[in-house]
Amino acid sequence: MKYGRTFNFSAGPAMMPEPVLEEIAAEVMNYRGSGMSVMEMSHRSKVYQTIIDETEADLRKLMGIPDNYKVLFVQGGGTLQFAMVPMNLMKNGVACYVETGSWSKKAIAEARKYGEVKVVASSADKNFTYVPDCSDLDIPDNADYVYICENETINGTTYTSLPNTKGKILVSDQSSMFLSRPCNVSDYGLIWAGVQKNVGPAGMAVVIVREDLIRDDLADYVPTYMKYKTHADSGSMYNTPNCWAIYCCGKVFKYLMDMGGLEAMNQRNIEKAQVLYDFLDSSKLFKGTVEKEYRSLMNIPFTTGDKEMDADVVAATKAAGYDNLKGHKSVGALRASTYNAMPKEGVEALVDFLSKYEAEHTK
Ligand code: PLP
Repeated sequence: MKYGRTFNFSAGPAMMPEPVLEEIAAEVMNYRGSGMSVMEMSHRSKVYQTIIDETEADLRKLMGIPDNYKVLFVQGGGTLQFAMVPMNLMKNGVACYVETGSWSKKAIAEARKYGEVKVVASSADKNFTYVPDCSDLDIPDNADYVYICENETINGTTYTSLPNTKGKILVSDQSSMFLSRPCNVSDYGLIWAGVQKNVGPAGMAVVIVREDLIRDDLADYVPTYMKYKTHADSGSMYNTPNCWAIYCCGKVFKYLMDMGGLEAMNQRNIEKAQVLYDFLDSSKLFKGTVEKEYRSLMNIPFTTGDKEMDADVVAATKAAGYDNLKGHKSVGALRASTYNAMPKEGVEALVDFLSKYEAEHTK
């Protein structure tokens, strides 16, 4: 790696593509002759307006977002969306949630503050190591939406097909898979993603919401900032936005288009993850923890089955230049996050290291 950088397998904030960082570095002191850094720029300036407009236009192009969807850049990271979704979409006060792991559990807990939450499917029975069958969910007629976490970052599972929502709106937390593969936006009422995994710096979420779901009849007590309408009406400029994150995300959107778009990224991500999964499937020491069909291409949890040895592997990998392989504190073991920016060579090098570790620790 150039610049003494490490292969960073963090689940987020995560690696950024190197060419993007280089471009940002070249512009950091004086953005295109403006005499200032984007960090120092008024969000009301013409030059910044061009940045945010281009960022939105490029995301629309990249994902093929239909005209009847708004794109919003909202502060508060992913966690604020756990609250904004029910605040804005619970009209009848009833919503269906699929429970697939830590992040859907957080979304459920938050939604319960606003209304009735029906957990229509769960994989809790097997420690969230699979995605439950969502082809025939028991969805009440008055449900306002069906909510999923499409890729569970901590547990390492992903959907192979979208739930049958029986005509209800589908809401998806795509934080840890955003832009990793093509997405048919029209299948959803609302998609949101915290950007610090596949796209940019932490502290912001991208929300893609169908226009007719943006309500102007919310209760008075709903804080102004928590209404999607506030952000939609102001072009994500109701207050000072996260200018820097928007700028960096814009760079990544352009980079992804240069790489051939989301289909090309999907191919790269499949090939990359396969390197590690193939190793895990043939290893005598390590094994993946998720049922094969539901394995995430972005977050790959694995273990030796022995807590002390897992900790030793984390320390050994770190010393060898592979960072952040410790599993989330709630589940332990190991996890390699292989987002868009992780090069295939990074995964190959890690597998090489793990193979040697295995040879030294097995007979
Ligand atoms: N949803 C998913 C799937 C996540 O992985 C995370 C964070 O890791 C969040 C939500 C919460 O995001 P934030 O930390 O930006 O609040």
